[in-house]
Amino acid sequence: MSNTRRAFLLGTGALVGAYATRKYYTTPDPAGRVLDAPTSDPLILNDASELSPTRVAKHLILTDRFEAPQIEALRAELLDAKRSGRAMIASAARHSMGGQSMAVSGTTITMNDEWLELDKTALTYRCGAGTRWSTIIAKLDAEGYSPAVMQSNNDFGVAATYCVNAHGWPVPFSGMGSTVVSLRMMLADGSHITCSREENADIFFAAMGGYGLLGVITDMTVRMVANTRLQPTFEKMDAEMFGPRFVQAIKGKTGVQMAYGRLDVSKDRFFEQAMMVTYRPSQDQSDLPPAPGSGFMSKASRSIFRAQLGSDSAKHRRWWFETGLGPWVGSGDTTRNTLLNEPVVTLDDRDNTRTDILHEYFIAPEKFAGWISACREVIPSSYQELLNITLRYVARDSESWLSYAPADRIACVMLFSQEKTHRGEEDMKRMTQELIDRTLDLGGSYYLPYRLHARQDQMVKAYPGLRPFIAKKRAMDPTNLFRHAMWDTYMARG
Ligand SMILES: Cc1cc2nc3c(=O)[nH]c(=O)nc-3n(C[C@H](O)[C@H](O)[C@H](O)COP(=O)(O)OP(=O)(O)OC[C@H]3O[C@@H](n4cnc5c(N)ncnc54)[C@H](O)[C@@H]3O)c2cc1C
Repeated sequence: MSNTRRAFLLGTGALVGAYATRKYYTTPDPAGRVLDAPTSDPLILNDASELSPTRVAKHLILTDRFEAPQIEALRAELLDAKRSGRAMIASAARHSMGGQSMAVSGTTITMNDEWLELDKTALTYRCGAGTRWSTIIAKLDAEGYSPAVMQSNNDFGVAATYCVNAHGWPVPFSGMGSTVVSLRMMLADGSHITCSREENADIFFAAMGGYGLLGVITDMTVRMVANTRLQPTFEKMDAEMFGPRFVQAIKGKTGVQMAYGRLDVSKDRFFEQAMMVTYRPSQDQSDLPPAPGSGFMSKASRSIFRAQLGSDSAKHRRWWFETGLGPWVGSGDTTRNTLLNEPVVTLDDRDNTRTDILHEYFIAPEKFAGWISACREVIPSSYQELLNITLRYVARDSESWLSYAPADRIACVMLFSQEKTHRGEEDMKRMTQELIDRTLDLGGSYYLPYRLHARQDQMVKAYPGLRPFIAKKRAMDPTNLFRHAMWDTYMARG
């Protein structure tokens, strides 16, 4: 092995991904159950759904910063995959849920190249593509800065976040892609190029929310903002009022920096009440405390959250906790970084017979009441257990080709606890398609990193940029080197 290749850290053996501790090989059986047998095969990877076991030919974990030797080694791997007709795809934490982060029988790369450099004058940081938000927050926090936009948890990779164009509680931003200044990416022809709004802009906008299908991002430069001490405000209201009230609370000179909403998910009061939480800077901005990994309230919330499974009285208790005790206990100051620095594991279900499945729908604020009615008709009569819905604000995204927010939207993130059975899976698929239909009827769209349950016509309707995106991908990658289950399901025949 050459030094170049050694520096790259590759192989197929002792490779450990974020989900290595929870590996399941899911096989159907005639009784209609889904069997989950732990597997020690390092070439069977899975994602956060625990329902996407995928055999790959090669799993590379990249830990080194991309300098000339690593770039050369990546190019060699890419050419090797291409020559053998294998697919290739980059990934980070594999928290997507429909196989978007794995190359079937191909080369899957886990990016763990964690490094970060601040530019305090430009208010940006440069970092490795696989740098996790937990690392970014720790480094920025120590210097008084904070990520501009990221998800509500800190486990994800920064380039992966751009590749799904994720969003979170920070307002009044659009997706995280809107805060990326530039990036470097290796294309299917082996060239390593810089993309930004000024340079290769078409590739920059197609790759933003492009699910890794145009190349492997190696590093990026991203905007940061000041870390701030924040004071929360809680407001309970009828759910129907939430859309316009949320926009009113956030848009304009309201000073709100972070915001989210929740709805009561108990079956007998389904989506009747909403809670809005907004955070404004406190008067005292001196001596900000460091951002801990996970707060007491979050940890205490886990048992209350999980007790909701199959119990309406536990759902009532949780709503009381959220709207009564929560505001009382959690009304003190916090910091922006503290709110962002939450690992996914805090709410983990610790149950091998079930799995958490996320859905997300984007709806115009003025259509929110109609969307609530649609959900009331679809969700409680299904077989699924809705444990949580969080509402966020996403500003218009006119940049990314696969934009899910062509105008300002309320993002409705739902967490279902699903039985790992064929019955659970079929019911989830049926319910998802119904929810997507109802959302599309209201002019909304749905989010792509989750299960691939949407029908083809739903994907086409929700994403008008799909055809140009596929054409661009085919032009840049004629042999379809970069592909995964989402490409195969919705794009390969487009
Ligand atoms: C518990 C949980 C909470 C979540 N919360 C939010 C939220 O608040 N807001 C939100 O918007 N989303 C949220 N999501 C969705 C999440 O943002 C996506 O699933 C995201 O992809 C996760 O990042 P990851 O590192 O796991 O990416 P992966 O799943 O590993 O990859 C995602 C995509 O990015 C591509 N990719 C990754 N790295 C590279 C690279 N270096 N070059 C090219 N392509 C690459 C992959 O090919 C894949 O298509 C949540 C998901 C979970 C499970």
